[in-house]
Amino acid sequence: MPDTSLCPLPQPGERLRADAAAAFIELDGEFRSEFGRPMCVTDSYRPYHEQVRLFQEMLPGMAARPGTSAHGLGVAVDLCGGVHELGTPEHRWMLDHAPEHGWENPEWARDGFEPWHWEYTPDPGPDRTAQTWEPTLTS
Ligand SMILES: [Zn+2]
Repeated sequence: MPDTSLCPLPQPGERLRADAAAAFIELDGEFRSEFGRPMCVTDSYRPYHEQVRLFQEMLPGMAARPGTSAHGLGVAVDLCGGVHELGTPEHRWMLDHAPEHGWENPEWARDGFEPWHWEYTPDPGPDRTAQTWEPTLTS
């Protein structure tokens, strides 16, 4: 991914794809007014070589295969400061407010698996409606 499509976050050293960064900065602003401090970010965009290193160091299944992680696409963050634990006020606040900005703790990461991992998945629009649409059977 070229550096030009990445934008810095208020958190030093952290970057995301431009649209994800803009949405995250809005969400971070709301978090600040609620908790009086910025969100704590441990990881955001992870360059390909870094992902390869992690994949080689960790046990199979512990890190996403290089190139498939949302971190490699610049649309995922790993959070700390309370958001990383289920049941904290920060985590509950995120579950309530992050979706308004297109951010969510994805299905696979819930139930205490990776509560710190959040992905930018903006409203998919009509596609999702089409997938769940079922014809009404009439006789
Ligand atoms: Zn993550």
